[in-house]
Amino acid sequence: MTTASTATLSHYIGGDWRPGSGKRAESTNPAAPEDVVAQYEIADSELLDAAITSAVGAARGWDEVGVLARGKILRNAAQILERRAEEVAALMTREEGKTLADARGEVGASVETLYYHAGAARRPTGTTYPSASPDELVRTVRRPVGTVGVVTPWNFPLQIPCWKMAPALMWGNTVVWKPASDTPAVAVALAEVLAEAGVPAGVVNLVIGPGSLGSELVADPRIDAVTFTGSVPVGHMIRDIVIPRGGRLQMELGGHNPAIVLPDADMAGAAAFITAAAMNSTGQKCTATRRVIAVGSAYDRLVPELTAAVQALRVGPGDEDGAQVGPLVSRRARDEVAGSIEQAVGEGATILAQADAPDDGGYYVAPTVLEGQASLTIANEEVFGPVTTVLRVDDLDAAIDLANATPFGLTASVFSRDEASIRRCVDHVAAGLVKVNAPSTGSEVHAPFGGLADSSFPAPREQGSDAVADFFSVTKTAYLRALPADPGS
Ligand code: NDP
Repeated sequence: MTTASTATLSHYIGGDWRPGSGKRAESTNPAAPEDVVAQYEIADSELLDAAITSAVGAARGWDEVGVLARGKILRNAAQILERRAEEVAALMTREEGKTLADARGEVGASVETLYYHAGAARRPTGTTYPSASPDELVRTVRRPVGTVGVVTPWNFPLQIPCWKMAPALMWGNTVVWKPASDTPAVAVALAEVLAEAGVPAGVVNLVIGPGSLGSELVADPRIDAVTFTGSVPVGHMIRDIVIPRGGRLQMELGGHNPAIVLPDADMAGAAAFITAAAMNSTGQKCTATRRVIAVGSAYDRLVPELTAAVQALRVGPGDEDGAQVGPLVSRRARDEVAGSIEQAVGEGATILAQADAPDDGGYYVAPTVLEGQASLTIANEEVFGPVTTVLRVDDLDAAIDLANATPFGLTASVFSRDEASIRRCVDHVAAGLVKVNAPSTGSEVHAPFGGLADSSFPAPREQGSDAVADFFSVTKTAYLRALPADPGS
């Protein structure tokens, strides 16, 4: 696939690339919407059925390949993706809009994810227990869950699918994957990598289509487990389908992540990290800093630093030299974010800073810092773009209460030198990840990742080794009694 032409995409089912049979669709370049990146015919119910049938049919064979052979295939995939890194990053920038630096970072993180789970294949997988009988051994074994339905968003079109599919495959499951409609070409690139790495036919199946196809996928009783990342409303719809039918479910959803800044913080450092966390990837990160909670005198020292940093951001096409913030992914996303800023101003918010953005038909929204009351809609509802709102409070208690005042609970950051204040935030801010003197974005693949409350679902976390193993495998307990030697033999 070159970045200059329009690709014609197929679905990957049972080891074959198959044309779609539904309506025609396309993905376009958000920096230049007349540039059609890819076109395809969407998968219909029949193709989805073929994908699920092939995944179920491949399950026994993939289990019997053995964990070390599966790890080797994942390592091959990491190497192939590493080799294709520059081409895949350019494709991601063209299709999703993020800057080349962000896209390269995402490809690198995806390579690391594949290597990490490949390495996990060599770790111990069970526990032995004492038995009441001296001739018996009790031990646990992990077995595959079966066939996993994977539904992913467009904002990390490579990394999130790797977070989910690499451990699913390592633990011996087969996969049917429905990626986001806005980034199908990146999805096809990853499926190509997995196929070239030696993933057997039927083990990974890619079906491209709209949300309704995702609904059909997660409703199918042959899908034993569903792993989803996306918005809260879609997540709740999926929960209401999967849980009543007895499926296993893991979800990571939206966020409205606070950064608490205390008066003793390093203000220049805090402003730099908040700017990066709020604006990198055009603010289209579930972990982006959406609210800046300035405590007491922190406000007057933080705001000049923050507004200067945001004002200076360079906005432009992701592949332009020096661009720090690209376009939003789609016209709809651009209109929603621009509408939220307008609404905030209508509700009484003040624009403290706004960078310059091109007015050339690309889906740009100028990175914006607002100031206002906690009652603003934008301070309570997720807005998925380059905008953050500064709120003032008198003390740390009020900051923690305000941080916890939305139904979300994904990430948070706290900026301070005071250990007691930091510990109070780590313990009492309702977020699955709390970052201290660091941006609310970013995570390590070997540490558990996930939110609380509406940002997640009570299931084993993504990433970190024990958590993913718990989701993608079933623990069985074996009682192994040794027989005495047969006197006749
Ligand atoms: P959506 O929830 O709209 O879509 C996510 C995926 O679900 C897409 O593949 C989408 O398909 C599919 N989908 C849509 N409707 C349905 C349905 N009824 N049944 C099954 N699947 C469906 O989210 P976005 O793609 O807009 O992603 C942004 C959201 O994701 C934000 O809220 C963000 O916070 C969250 N997110 C959370 C992360 C986390 O780890 N907590 C990380 C990254 C993002 P289609 O594209 O065809 O509509």
